[in-house]
Amino acid sequence: MNRVEVLQNQTGKPTAASGPRPIVVLGACFLDYIGYVEGMPKPGETRHSKQFAKGFGGKGANQAVMAGRLGAGVRMVSVVGNDGDGQAYQAELAKNGVACDTVFAVNGAASGLALIFVDRNTAQNEIVICPNATDALTVEFLRSKTQNYKQFLHGCKILVCQNEIPLATTLDVIKAAHEQGVYTIFNTAPAPSAEDAARITPYLQHVSLFCPNETEASILTGLDVKDAASAFEAVKKLQSQGVADVVITLGSQGYVIGAKGSAPQHFNSVRVKAVDTTGAGDCFVGAMTCFLNKGKSLSDACKLANICASVSVQRKGTQSSYPYPNELPPELS
Ligand code: ATP
Repeated sequence: MNRVEVLQNQTGKPTAASGPRPIVVLGACFLDYIGYVEGMPKPGETRHSKQFAKGFGGKGANQAVMAGRLGAGVRMVSVVGNDGDGQAYQAELAKNGVACDTVFAVNGAASGLALIFVDRNTAQNEIVICPNATDALTVEFLRSKTQNYKQFLHGCKILVCQNEIPLATTLDVIKAAHEQGVYTIFNTAPAPSAEDAARITPYLQHVSLFCPNETEASILTGLDVKDAASAFEAVKKLQSQGVADVVITLGSQGYVIGAKGSAPQHFNSVRVKAVDTTGAGDCFVGAMTCFLNKGKSLSDACKLANICASVSVQRKGTQSSYPYPNELPPELS
C-alpha cells in the first residue's frame, strides 16, 4: 500500500501525493530558459536580450500543472536529473497538486532544458529542446520502474502524452492504456519528423483524442493545414486512420473539433492582446483534460480550455502564465 501524504496545493484543495489518479500525464519536465528579443536572430547573428526568465516547462509537465491548478487529480510520469533542477521541479509539481512519485531522478544526468526566444514584436517563439535525462525514459526503464505501468495505469481514466520523450515509450504506453479502456489523448507536439510520423500512424487506432496544432496536423496528414477549412480535411483523414476524436488548435484562429460521428466544427479564439503564446497549446490541453475528467462534453471542455489559454497568452512565460481558478470566470472553477 502506498503511503498517502496529504498536501495543500495552490488551489487550496488537499491533494494526495501518491495513490491512483484519474489523469496521468506521461511527458517531459524541462527547465525553460527564456530570452525576450526584438526580432529573432538570423543564422550567424548575435542579438542582445534585455530580459531573461527561468521557469518550469516541458509540455507534459505544463499540461499536468494546468490540470492540477484547476483541482484535477493528476499524476506526472517523467524523469529529471538527480540535480537541484530536478528536485525543484518535483517540489513545483507537488505545489500544484500533481502526484510526482512517478517522476524518477536519474543519477549523473542533467534535467532537460528548453532554450526559448520570444520575439517581443510578434509574441512568437523559437525553441531548442535539450532532453538530457529525459532520454532515459525508455520502455524498459519505465516498465521496470512501474511494474509494467501498473503503478500509474491503475485508477487512470485519461492518459495524456506528447512528443518530447522517446517515441517508443509514448506509443507503448498509449497502446497499453487504450487496451485497458483508458481514454488516451495524444498531443503530438513538438512536430514529429516524417520518419516518426510514419511510426505514429499504426498507433492512431489506440488514440481516443488526437490533439495536434496546424504544423503537427500537416505532418501527420500530408495536407497543408492552415485554417478551419484545411483542418476539417485533416480531421477526416485522421479519423479514416483510426483516431476517434480530433481537436486541432489553430493559434489565434481558435480550434477545430472533430468528434467521432459528427461533422467537424470551428470555434474562434477569445479576442485578446497576446504578449507571449509560449505554452498556450499545453494550457489548452491541460485544461481540456481537466474538464473532460469533470464530465464535460468535448465541445464544452474545449470552450473552457479556450478561455484558460486566452488568459495565458496575455502573460509572459509558460506555467507562470497559467491561471488559477480564482482568476477565471465562475463556470471554470
Ligand atoms: P505551444 O506549442 O506554444 O504550446 P501550440 O502551437 O500547440 O502552442 P496554439 O495552436 O498556438 O498551440 O494555441 C492553442 C490555443 O491557445 C488556441 O487554440 C487558442 O485557444 C489559444 N490561443 C493561442 N494563441 C492565441 C491568441 N493569440 N489569442 C487568443 N487565444 C490564443
